[in-house]
Amino acid sequence: MQQTNTHSEKKPQAGQPPQAKQVERTTCCIVGGGPAGAILALLLARQGVEVTLLEAHLDFERDFRGDTIHPAVMEILDEIGLAERLLKLRHTKLSTFGLQTRAGTLRLRFAFGKTKFPYITVIAQSRFLEFITEEAKRYPNFTLIMGAQVDELVEKDGVVHGIRYRASDGSHEIRAALIVGADGRFSRLRKLAGFEPVKTSPPIDVLWFRLTRGENDTIESLDARIGNGLFLIFIDRFDYWQVGCVIPKDGYQKLRSDGLDHLRQSLAKTVPELTDRFAELKEWKQLSVLSVESSHLKRWYKPGLLLIGDAAHVMSPAGGIGINYAISDAVVASNVLGGKLAAGLPIREKDFASVQRQRELPTRVAQTFQSLLQRVALARAIKSGGEVMVAPVLLARLLEKMPWLTALPARFIGFGLWPPHVKTELPQPPMESVTVSNEPTSSSSDTPLTIK
Ligand SMILES: Cc1cc2nc3c(=O)[nH]c(=O)nc-3n(C[C@H](O)[C@H](O)[C@H](O)COP(=O)(O)OP(=O)(O)OC[C@H]3O[C@@H](n4cnc5c(N)ncnc54)[C@H](O)[C@@H]3O)c2cc1C
Repeated sequence: MQQTNTHSEKKPQAGQPPQAKQVERTTCCIVGGGPAGAILALLLARQGVEVTLLEAHLDFERDFRGDTIHPAVMEILDEIGLAERLLKLRHTKLSTFGLQTRAGTLRLRFAFGKTKFPYITVIAQSRFLEFITEEAKRYPNFTLIMGAQVDELVEKDGVVHGIRYRASDGSHEIRAALIVGADGRFSRLRKLAGFEPVKTSPPIDVLWFRLTRGENDTIESLDARIGNGLFLIFIDRFDYWQVGCVIPKDGYQKLRSDGLDHLRQSLAKTVPELTDRFAELKEWKQLSVLSVESSHLKRWYKPGLLLIGDAAHVMSPAGGIGINYAISDAVVASNVLGGKLAAGLPIREKDFASVQRQRELPTRVAQTFQSLLQRVALARAIKSGGEVMVAPVLLARLLEKMPWLTALPARFIGFGLWPPHVKTELPQPPMESVTVSNEPTSSSSDTPLTIK
């Protein structure tokens, strides 16, 4: 097996002349440095697998991301000795979620049950990803390539053998025993592999914008408000508020025709204490409009290629659970495939099927929950300006007196169904010496990549 042995981060320099195409070899090439890709890369690197992680951007700073780390993820990080160190980074711990409506305030306590981390950790996702990839860089068999835009699969007879990517220094090719597509909701690999996602929830429109954070703001780290046709969620990014504002589907044109002044007034009526901050919204270009929908693939793999995270099942922002599900996929993929990759053993279709089988039901159940939240609760609450929230508010007050009743939904949000754990035992050394060949064998669906 060819060892690239490059643990350093490669950042192509702007202005460098394009070079001829280079072909590199590795054991596992992961496309996408989001939560799924970064965690899988780290877990495989820990097992001694030669792994290359490709990220299209030059850094991890991106606006359209969530920042919630659920107890399930904290437990996973604890299993690999990283939880305490992560908690040294700037973060907030959330043990309640507040939703203010015209019918009153609904406050839910996260009764997560027995766990060392009974809260949601809110941490900038960029810091989280930097932390994970820095940890992975401690392993000489890990390579991170930033600014690598993957745009082609190297495929022969239905078997994926590699990818091609563009960087500022030209075009490159990587060949690997396994390619993992962790490239998110607009997955290029999903498209290149010819997979068609099935929609699971109607799209919702979200306005996404920043507001200055005042020192004396009384809003909580993850606070929500409903009123005046808007559902607002505030994410504390310490230096500023990241605001997500769910509007009725296709409501953006109406908002535009009513004018920015009208929107500022609606926002101020919904959150009066931030009236001065909404005045910062002076141009429409300060607000991004996202159409967000969830979907899933019937099949997450083909020979040589596995899709995980949003690439396999796009999660909507509803409930803030997508990061947890992406990371859980990575843990299962590492548990199932890591030992074989480390030992140079063939990855067979049944291995891919095992990853999908373990993760498909939990994600489908979560997507059904998100869909219900969107179709029933969110849509009705927005339409009625929060009036329909009378019953939920009363129910929440009742639940406050019987916290054991909230344990089940809280556990579902914090952990999901069948939360995976990191398999700690390291693979046995292979019986025979192994070399990875990227030559195709046959197109049989259970054909492993050739490992002699
Ligand atoms: C507005 C919004 C808010 C959200 N808020 C939350 C929240 O608060 N909590 C929560 O848990 N979930 C939230 N989600 C969902 C969550 O962001 C996703 O479910 C989660 O990020 C999926 O992780 P992933 O690693 O699969 O994909 P991503 O996080 O999307 O990562 C994919 C990575 O692949 C890279 N990439 C893409 N194409 C290529 C390519 N061709 N070549 C190389 N690299 C590529 C991207 O740059 C990106 O870094 C939100 C989603 C949205 C849209």
